[in-house]
Amino acid sequence: MKITIGHLYPDLLNLYGDRGNIQCMKKRCEWRGIESEVREFQLTDDIDFGSLDIVLLGGGSDREQMIVCSRLKAIQKDFRDYVEDNGVVIAVCGGYQLLGHYYDTPEGRIEGLSLVDLCTEQGSPRLISNIVVENDLFEYPVVGFENHGGRTYINENKPFGRVSFGFGNNGGDRQEGVMYKNVIGTYIHGPLLPKNPHVCDLLLRRALERKYGRADLAPLDDSQEREANQYIVNRFVK
Ligand code: GLN
Repeated sequence: MKITIGHLYPDLLNLYGDRGNIQCMKKRCEWRGIESEVREFQLTDDIDFGSLDIVLLGGGSDREQMIVCSRLKAIQKDFRDYVEDNGVVIAVCGGYQLLGHYYDTPEGRIEGLSLVDLCTEQGSPRLISNIVVENDLFEYPVVGFENHGGRTYINENKPFGRVSFGFGNNGGDRQEGVMYKNVIGTYIHGPLLPKNPHVCDLLLRRALERKYGRADLAPLDDSQEREANQYIVNRFVK
């Protein structure tokens, strides 16, 4: 079995150690004897979405998002076909905002990919916090850190989680992130996956199921990650 991970624009969308998410996916594959390959794409590269099993879009500043946005039209159709064909995507913060229709800032509108029915407007102050969210899909909460000026509204979509601590999408509706088909968009940085191996395994499982029709993910010893997670939950929620 092999998983190919496409990392989009790592030189521009790479805030807060998003690269750690790639390392986590690779390592958890390696520990299970699953081969993995990472392909990094720069802004002018062509992307063969048909050869990818997981796509990662990281976070970026407004300025970097504006640069990336200029390229999105060229990849929009292929990216949309990939998503509609249940391709797995993990998009963090700036990358999450780019999944939607637009991100409005005082400097102008950053047009998004319109892969998911959501939109973002910049507000003040920035929403900066540790964050804990819950989702019945997961045995234990998802923890991390958020830092965004954007307020995201996900319309009829399902959130990635319910906020137990922190701000989430817009600081108002207690929702965090979005889940659409096999796409996860989230404001949780930090990096997300090393802190939340249960989220990493969900991505790997879905990618393997889509490709091979089955996913036998051998359990790993996550006792240290669970302990760290529990510490954060106890500190902020209980
Ligand atoms: N520039 C976006 C915002 O401030 C995203 C920032 C980020 O990726 N941390 O909302």
